[in-house]
Amino acid sequence: MKKLIDKYGRIHDYLRISVTDRCNLRCVYCMPEEGMEFEPSDRILTYEEITEVVSAIAKIGVRKLRLTGGEPLVRKEIEKLIRMLSAVEGIEDIALTTNGMYLEKKAELLKEAGVTRINISLDSLQADRFAMITRGGDLSRVLRGLNAAVRAGFQPIKLNVVLMKGINDDEIADFIRLSIEKPLQIRFIEYMPIGHDDNGWRERYVPLQTIFNTVESMGLTYEKAEHVYGNGPAENFRIPGAGGTFGLIHPVSEHFCDNCNRLRLTADGNIKPCLYWDDEWNVRPLIGNEALIQDLFMRVLDAKPENHEMAKALSQETQSHTPTVRRMSQIGG
Ligand code: SAM
Ligand code: SF4
Repeated sequence: MKKLIDKYGRIHDYLRISVTDRCNLRCVYCMPEEGMEFEPSDRILTYEEITEVVSAIAKIGVRKLRLTGGEPLVRKEIEKLIRMLSAVEGIEDIALTTNGMYLEKKAELLKEAGVTRINISLDSLQADRFAMITRGGDLSRVLRGLNAAVRAGFQPIKLNVVLMKGINDDEIADFIRLSIEKPLQIRFIEYMPIGHDDNGWRERYVPLQTIFNTVESMGLTYEKAEHVYGNGPAENFRIPGAGGTFGLIHPVSEHFCDNCNRLRLTADGNIKPCLYWDDEWNVRPLIGNEALIQDLFMRVLDAKPENHEMAKALSQETQSHTPTVRRMSQIGG
């Protein structure tokens, strides 16, 4: 029987689906302010096509899905897709990553449709700074979305914080305090060089060791927190007695490729074995033939590299593959 296990013995049970490359924001680390070209709508996988791909690969081991984008909540009636995916035999978990701007309106619907977990991206707790980083985001609206998600029964909620030197790294202490006060899982993420061909990201990159230094300078101690289901590569910690946790996702300073269990499907139907490299294969022409879809996923897995080399991008060493030219908004993170 076919199983999604690669030549390094990594079992792949997780597919991240970018449902759209469009977004209502333009975060500085993700998209350029202007000039972004979007896929025409006839090149974007329909809900039926996505469900067909998922049904095929659920039979060879995929159990967990994450819907992302672009912004997944800008796709019309996304709850319809979630209902369709929830009905696929073998799928046990459907998570969603959102910027939170439409969450107040959608949280209940998402819960009813079958979303199990929600991550909200929130890089600043200061309204003007949040608007600057996201180029137009409204912090109060995102916080209302967060509260609506709590009311709808999503628990716990994860907050993704991409740290950038000179932009929001002075807020580490505020986020740590938030993890003490609220039952939130704060996840600090290292700024990744996805789709960045300039030096901008290198200058802004903050290694996550900085978090521990900040906790110590606050006069606090921390302890390892229990592994949280669905937290993937995050290492989790807690300030003793805190209501929430904080986690570190450090793809650049210390990759976690040895345990990688994920594949990615872009909105235009490309399967990516690795977030960082440019290899991708389009599944769309095979939709309608389950065996061929499964075979393509097996071939993609065969080509999956042992690891990415983002650290070499930081030290400006030669890399063994070609990094993707896609933006994070086109891959989904
Ligand atoms: N629009 C949704 C959102 O912002 O949550 C989902 C898509 S977004 C591309 C998924 C995640 O990727 C977000 O948490 C975002 O912060 C993160 N991300 C985008 N560009 C990044 C970069 N260059 N480095 C690290 N994380 C990045
Ligand atoms: Fe949009 Fe999310 Fe990218 Fe921000 S990180 S521009 S919200 S896709």
